[in-house]
Amino acid sequence: MIELNQVNKSYGKHQVLFDIDLTIAKREKVVILGPSGSGKSTVLRCINGLETIQSGDIRYEGASVIGDKAMRRMRLEVGMVFQRFHLFPHRTALENVMEGPIWVKRMKKQEARELAADLLAKVGLSGKEDSYPGKLSGGQQQRVAIARSLAMQPKAILFDEPTSALDPELVGEVLSVMKEVAAEGMSMVVVTHEIGFAREVADRIVFMDQGKVIETGTPEEILDRPQHVRTQSFLSRIL
Ligand code: ADP
Ligand code: MG
Repeated sequence: MIELNQVNKSYGKHQVLFDIDLTIAKREKVVILGPSGSGKSTVLRCINGLETIQSGDIRYEGASVIGDKAMRRMRLEVGMVFQRFHLFPHRTALENVMEGPIWVKRMKKQEARELAADLLAKVGLSGKEDSYPGKLSGGQQQRVAIARSLAMQPKAILFDEPTSALDPELVGEVLSVMKEVAAEGMSMVVVTHEIGFAREVADRIVFMDQGKVIETGTPEEILDRPQHVRTQSFLSRIL
């Protein structure tokens, strides 16, 4: 579904991604692990067309997304959830979820309202429709952000450290919503340090360091039998 071939990315003279190869099959859940600064967010941003790349190719459902129609389709069909929720502060939870379907998909307001209410219920936020983000906990805001992403009926969702900004007691509620989305068959790429989630949900774990994919494998392969010393030392630091 999504394929990166030999992707190189630099900011000015500073190269941050080196020959990245990565594939995400339909319904697959890929977790990206790696130390801070290793290029995980940049990979997601490249997939989603938020960054230009210096060389290599990114394909979405077989078509290159470098500067054309496939890019627009990919933007519509691939959602992103950020570490810091990025909700509209002056819109209620319901309005935040309705925005995309109305403005991007031209959905009728009433239909969008019903969809948004259903999705808020799905993420456990019935009764919070009229709350503004500032009145919600971080975990609730992130669940609104996930509902907002789902409202676009995406074929895949990219999650960039979705629980890293949360107080520890709020992490579980967000991970359980993500597990539910995973169980429904969504294709997902998740950057996270939540090893329990990775073990339970990932089909494949990709370990990155210093802009390179160091190794890729099943959760058992990467977490229990890492082959590379960099993977081993990273895991020993976070486990
Ligand atoms: P991670 O998400 O793994 O922590 P990032 O993808 O955010 O890593 O960053 C990878 C590298 O790219 C880091 O060295 C970071 O400083 C650099 N970087 C990220 N964004 C920018 C930017 N907009 N301009 C310049 N350098 C950047
Ligand atoms: Mg990051």
